[in-house]
Amino acid sequence: ETEEKPTPLAVRRRDAIVAALHEHGAARVLDLGCGQGQLVQALLRDARFTEIVGVDVSVRALTIAARRLKLDRMGERQAARVTLRQGSLVYTDKQLKGYDAAVLSEVIEHLDLPRLPALEYAVFGAARPRTVLVTTPNVEYNVRWETLPAGHARHGDHRFEWTREQFAQWAHAVAERHGYEVGFRPVGPDDPEVGPPTQMAVFTLGTTNDSSDSEKEAKAA
Ligand code: SAH
Repeated sequence: ETEEKPTPLAVRRRDAIVAALHEHGAARVLDLGCGQGQLVQALLRDARFTEIVGVDVSVRALTIAARRLKLDRMGERQAARVTLRQGSLVYTDKQLKGYDAAVLSEVIEHLDLPRLPALEYAVFGAARPRTVLVTTPNVEYNVRWETLPAGHARHGDHRFEWTREQFAQWAHAVAERHGYEVGFRPVGPDDPEVGPPTQMAVFTLGTTNDSSDSEKEAKAA
């Protein structure tokens, strides 16, 4: 008899991200804070994604990603679909404009809270992809991790972990400020009391208000 192993949360997260990207018809995708390139690799295997850009501030992570993807041995056609770039998400970057979607998977909680508005502006104000997916831990779920001492974050480098309410408040405010609509999805088992281990916000650029911030400012002036 074979008992099914539970799917690791990282895999469920990637599956949820890929599914959401498909639903929104995204072909050209930014993976912001791509880390060691697991999602980039998954997207490359799927022909629906025609262009994938991984960005990370860590040269070390990008080196590992390049090795994982075997960038140096990749055929020309595959290589043309993927770019890895070093850069910080708290600075605006013209090269990140014009993509269908951006993914921020387990990234926001690695920034000091006072820097979050800069990332918000760079992604939602300047790059402005049609779809933005943001995942972050749901701190309420931490009581369900058997190995986690009470009151501890899941990862030493997490600067904060939010409840569903805190994440929803942030996401609604971001959506409001930049003309996006936002919805939420659980990733992993959705516990009736504490919710899922990972929370995902799906932002879509509103069709009624898709002018860029600079256009809005110009109108307001
Ligand atoms: N997206 C991956 C990695 C998450 S770990 C995944 O889901 O598994 C968080 C990543 O964010 C790290 O690779 C870290 O280097 C990156 N990061 C943190 N601050 C950043 C910043 N200011 N700009 C770009 N990347 C950043």
